[in-house]
Amino acid sequence: MNRIMTEQLIPVTVDFDKPGKQIGAFHVPLSSHDDAWGVVPVPVAVISNGEGPTVILEGGNHGDEYEGPITLGELIRDLDPSEVSGRLILIPAINQPAAVAARRVSPIDGINMNRTFPGDPMGTTTRQIAAFVHDVLFPMGDAFIDLHSGGSSLDIIPSAVIEPGKTPERHAANVAAAMAFGAPIAVVIDNRGDPRTATASAAVAGMTVIGTEMAGGGTVSIDALALCRQGVRNVLAHLGVLPGAGATPVEKPSSLYVLTARAHVIVEDDGVFEPLHRLGAEVRAGELAGRIHFITQPGRRPVDLHYRADGIVYGRRQPGRVRPGNCCLVVATPYESRTA
Ligand code: CA
Repeated sequence: MNRIMTEQLIPVTVDFDKPGKQIGAFHVPLSSHDDAWGVVPVPVAVISNGEGPTVILEGGNHGDEYEGPITLGELIRDLDPSEVSGRLILIPAINQPAAVAARRVSPIDGINMNRTFPGDPMGTTTRQIAAFVHDVLFPMGDAFIDLHSGGSSLDIIPSAVIEPGKTPERHAANVAAAMAFGAPIAVVIDNRGDPRTATASAAVAGMTVIGTEMAGGGTVSIDALALCRQGVRNVLAHLGVLPGAGATPVEKPSSLYVLTARAHVIVEDDGVFEPLHRLGAEVRAGELAGRIHFITQPGRRPVDLHYRADGIVYGRRQPGRVRPGNCCLVVATPYESRTA
């Protein structure tokens, strides 16, 4: 039902059934003051050759995360169709308006794309883009790779992200794909069961799903980009769409972690956050995690923050200034010892 409306409203300039390499866009209608019949052109490439799986690769879901878009741009330029067995559909800057603005959310409707799936062909721009991905692209896909970083507000240990599968078989396939990525750690993240993320939506659609978190801070990390480049090729080889010769043998299996319901340290005060531990530090629930300082009230004692889970410091807020409700720290718990 939605698919017919989505295809009608959002035309695309590439033919997904045609062999070879095409670079084009899907055109999300945006009738604005200075462009009555204008569109938001969301770049999409298809590289197709012979038999094999269809893998959909997405970057730029948040517009201030760059390792994924850079990696996908390189694949679009560098891969020859003869190297591909099957089909790659690459969307390096899926939230195009957010990527142009270098913002997490779209400047057009203020929406976080990763809370809009399965989208709405008759919704605002971000919902329409999600609907195109969900209604038109997902039915073609066997696997989905969603490349995130921490964005402007967080720095995160470069890692593969495991989306919980809907069946034991699907879950095992997601874990295997994440392990093939070859990052030092792989983390099960379910966003509290939120079904509106791209990866959760792709899992419901029955695909093998893998995500990443690649540093952040609104910058490009040299180390995370190197890992992302190699990891994506590793996963594509694992899925059989690129030859195995392009993959790096994984020397040490990724350590498995999970974000539990007690992973996040949330601030209740208006002030400046002082962290106490570097990323990767081992911490315990109840341990002092940081302090909130009140820099214009020097007589006021800082407020202590405490970790709520055992594990390692997985992510840390980058801006020092905090307000009530901000997430300052994220703890990843070893998968075997999870309790929540
Ligand atoms: Ca992100």
